[in-house]
Amino acid sequence: VILNRESASWDWSKIIRADYTDILYCRLALEARQSWRTEPLYREFYHETGLIWVDQTGFSEKVVTNYANLGVEEKLRMVPVETLRKIEGGLFESADFGTNDMVYVNDCSGWVEAYKALERITESAATAGVQLVESNISRLTFDANGNCTGAQSTDGESFLAQNIILATGAETARLLVESAPSHLKLHAGNRLRAAGLITGVVRLDSEEAIRHRAAPAFLHAEGQAKGILGFIFYCNSLIEYRSNYSA
Ligand SMILES: Cc1cc2nc3c(=O)[nH]c(=O)nc-3n(C[C@H](O)[C@H](O)[C@H](O)COP(=O)(O)OP(=O)(O)OC[C@H]3O[C@@H](n4cnc5c(N)ncnc54)[C@H](O)[C@@H]3O)c2cc1C
Repeated sequence: VILNRESASWDWSKIIRADYTDILYCRLALEARQSWRTEPLYREFYHETGLIWVDQTGFSEKVVTNYANLGVEEKLRMVPVETLRKIEGGLFESADFGTNDMVYVNDCSGWVEAYKALERITESAATAGVQLVESNISRLTFDANGNCTGAQSTDGESFLAQNIILATGAETARLLVESAPSHLKLHAGNRLRAAGLITGVVRLDSEEAIRHRAAPAFLHAEGQAKGILGFIFYCNSLIEYRSNYSA
């Protein structure tokens, strides 16, 4: 199976939430979550353990309005910080809740064992007859009318197709500029913005792991150290702790 661990999609765990202030994201994420819940191919990797969200920018109000406008019933709660400090054997006891007295919790959000889902989907596509070719693309190719005809790899091989979907994540802007320097309309321009995330993993001992098995994910969206605390099943029994900090 071809899986690039440098891709954003490859990860030990990813938060799955429809809690977005942009209603378009919210709607799309609700559809995605439904697939995580029901799709036999990967639903076993999804864990709906809830999500705690620390924020003081009016996030929760906007999210609640979005759900109301979409006619969706979520298990949303505003929970006193003092209560959250006591759950999970005190896991969040010394967490930075800022000046919040109450914090937004959505029990319908959760997390997924991302790399396992990615592996399963890739294997299933190959079994269904999709041809997987591992190759580094140096540039896209175009016909005389400026229509994209395919891509050329760094070792000179050409891949031609009638329809081309570019799914190159953070590399997309560079690839477009380098492939068509004078075709300004094709460039990502301000449509994409680069961001950096630092990920750290702490291994828990088996007792801690079992204790926090069903802990909610924790998303810290205010203050200097913004971050996410998520969990990872390791060797089917242990759980590790992952934290992302955005720069
Ligand atoms: C550390 C981190 C944590 C995140 N956590 C979450 C989370 O908890 N929940 C959530 O919903 N989202 C999260 N995100 C965001 C989410 O991971 C991304 O939005 C999503 O994975 C992007 O998917 P993609 O397919 O567009 O890009 P990618 O997964 O990056 O896929 C792009 C692929 O294109 C390949 N590629 C690029 N250039 C070339 C080339 N020239 N030739 C050949 N191949 C090429 C790359 O190798 C890669 O495999 C996180 C992102 C990061 C970085």
